[in-house]
Amino acid sequence: MIFETLDTYGHEQVVFCHNKDAGLKAIIAIHNTVLGPALGGTRMWPYKSEDEALKDVLRLSRGMTYKNAVAGLNIGGGKAVIIGNPATDKSEALFRAFGQFVESLGGRYITAEDVGIDVNDMEYVYRETEYVTGVHQVHGGSGDPSPFTAYGALQGLLATLNRKFGDEDVGKYSYAVQGLGHVGMEYVKLLKDRGAKIFVTDINQQLVDKAVNEYGAEAVGLDEIYDVPADVYSPCALGGTVNEQTLPRFKFKVICGAANNQLQNDAIGDEVVKRGILYAPDYAVNAGGVMNVALELDGYNRERAMRMMRTIYHNLSRIYEIADRDGIPTYRAADRLAEERIDKIGKLKLPLGRGRTRFQGRIRGN
Ligand code: NAD
Repeated sequence: MIFETLDTYGHEQVVFCHNKDAGLKAIIAIHNTVLGPALGGTRMWPYKSEDEALKDVLRLSRGMTYKNAVAGLNIGGGKAVIIGNPATDKSEALFRAFGQFVESLGGRYITAEDVGIDVNDMEYVYRETEYVTGVHQVHGGSGDPSPFTAYGALQGLLATLNRKFGDEDVGKYSYAVQGLGHVGMEYVKLLKDRGAKIFVTDINQQLVDKAVNEYGAEAVGLDEIYDVPADVYSPCALGGTVNEQTLPRFKFKVICGAANNQLQNDAIGDEVVKRGILYAPDYAVNAGGVMNVALELDGYNRERAMRMMRTIYHNLSRIYEIADRDGIPTYRAADRLAEERIDKIGKLKLPLGRGRTRFQGRIRGN
């Protein structure tokens, strides 16, 4: 049954990690290492069943292969899940035991933070293995990726405006930004700097007040955001907000934001096209975070990171070319770009997991 699933989704390796004393139950899924070692975060979540955890890690690791490939990185796709409650089940022993399993894979899988995990947890993992990114800056880590993600999303927006309207004048258009967290607020700032009209919403009123007072945004209700007369919808909170209920209400001409999994399903992606709305594929737009941590492997450098974010413009342009070339929706064109890159680079016959990515710049603490 498991091998059938791995066959369907093309995973290379799945590792079940168990340490009774440390209370560790984790699964590491390596989906694809054709482009390089598999990089993807570790999620800690109180999964209701082992089956649910397995499904999640298989889905997420495959997603990382596509995201990393479209981002142009020499990095494959992987992900890990720890079964447990992040509020009550964390301990040094748990994360060090997990780090030992990561180490045992010899660099085929490199971890990072994801939902339920913070930089302090990663510090414990780092005591057992070097194959971890997102550690404290003192160890050569890159710190909070959110400003980079927002700047990368702006690059994606420029390419998308160009495709839709034939210009890149951010200030000429209006925006509906949902979610003013780490990425959303920075994105609003970037839009404001370029003179844009911005509508905002968030469940946190303080963040809304900040966007209104500091960036001149107009606040709207949580549900009202789907109805505002803006040119661009920028989801920066939850996934699945482009769905059967919301889409018929859209007056937007473009969807471009940083949230993951914006489309409820493929059918909605097709419906978006029918309505003449241009969708900027989420995982290409929000790749700034993973680009930033991937740079840690080569020796982190902020200047280089900013330059790398600008490649998101090119990646989006390439996706739109493929959509034109093959007559397919942009969400499918993004997948195709990833598959074509993996196929072509795979045929170069680089030794497994080598490429150019290697550990260089890390100052090893203790
Ligand atoms: P965050 O938790 O800092 O911010 C999310 C914000 O959304 C919060 O302010 C929250 O109050 C708000 N929110 C939650 N539910 C809402 C709702 N129903 N309506 C309006 N607002 C709501 O998260 P973040 O780091 O800013 O990430 C935002 C999105 O971007 C997520 O989907 C995340 O997966 C994705 N993303 C983030 C990064 C990164 O570098 N942080 C990288 C890639 C993708």
